[in-house]
Amino acid sequence: MARILITGGAGFIGSHLCDRLLADGHEVIAMDNFFTSHPRNIAHLVGHDRFRFVKHDVTEYIYIDGHLDAILHLASLPSPVDYLREPIKTLKVGALGTHKALGLARKHGAKFLLASTSEVYGDPQVHPQPETYWGNVNPIGPRGVYDESKRFAEAMTMAYHRYHGIDTRIVRIFNTYGPRMRADDGRVVTNFIAQGLRGEPLTVYDDGSRTRSFCYVSDLVEGMVRLLESDIVEPVNLGNPDEMTVLEFAKVVQRLTGGKSEIVFVTPRDERTKDDPHIRQPDITRARTLLGWEPRVPLEEGLQYTIDYFRHLLHLEGK
Ligand code: NAD
Ligand code: UDP
Repeated sequence: MARILITGGAGFIGSHLCDRLLADGHEVIAMDNFFTSHPRNIAHLVGHDRFRFVKHDVTEYIYIDGHLDAILHLASLPSPVDYLREPIKTLKVGALGTHKALGLARKHGAKFLLASTSEVYGDPQVHPQPETYWGNVNPIGPRGVYDESKRFAEAMTMAYHRYHGIDTRIVRIFNTYGPRMRADDGRVVTNFIAQGLRGEPLTVYDDGSRTRSFCYVSDLVEGMVRLLESDIVEPVNLGNPDEMTVLEFAKVVQRLTGGKSEIVFVTPRDERTKDDPHIRQPDITRARTLLGWEPRVPLEEGLQYTIDYFRHLLHLEGK
């Protein structure tokens, strides 16, 4: 049994990691300030004898009593609407927060896993994206606050590995979805599902020709656990290579939510589609060969679980 800290542990992915690591018999401490998440994500864990929650902003000095075997650092503002609204908080959590979490790993001699992102590849000129690609990021564009904070976080993680000998892991997560996302996080999965369930138009930005590849959360969590247990210091992509255009994706969600919504093409007035990657698909050769991992949940099945969750959530909230 290991004692594991998850920063961003009340978030969408973080809360699923809490569930998984508790089920595996570990002791889990979740740390979060609920900046982009809701306490209901971890409400079912309150009272669990191997679970503890600490409300804390990771950009401030982090103190944990007792020993720590591993730190999974997920705290971040990952959705475009959040990081466009809070650019400085985004940079601070990626830079200062990662520095604090790495300092904590050093103090405890703990293993450290950074949740990085496919956004480190920017608007890619190599397709699909292997981990060896250095990316095409506009540092001064609106998305730069998120992308560069994660690129800094990767550089900082490797510096702690090389200089302080910390045992580190870096996972580059590609678009992941599932229950416990926020209905209003502005991401394409939640926007389309909420719109479909409300019978509102599905808002496809611009001409809908950009591509993404969507991974169900249980597949991602399995990959992250395997990576944590491996000895791979190099970054590893985790995501589903099943690529489609946003318009194709809208048609699937339209059908699965009952087919009452029309699809509309809109151009957002803010900067959310500036530097929006045109194509994205993970090359998962490294995860396949080194972790024996690949995604198992087909898109329609994962979407059905997610739609069921949002049907319940929106009903509870009267929306
Ligand atoms: P999320 O917003 O649900 O989770 C992030 C969590 O971090 C939230 O609970 C938030 O409250 C918390 N947080 C933010 N600032 C904090 C601070 N200063 N101190 C403490 N907690 C703070 O989003 P998610 O999708 O679960 O993302 C989890 C991680 O995975 C992030 O690091 C994100 O960059 C990465 N990621 C996610 C995706 C995806 O498709 N979901 C893709 C690429 C990378
Ligand atoms: N998108 C869209 N309609 C929406 C929300 C998003 O067409 O209501 C597009 C967005 O422009 C992007 C893709 O869907 O090309 C994925 O967006 P998301 O915010 O989910 O994540 P990203 O992969 O850009 O971080």
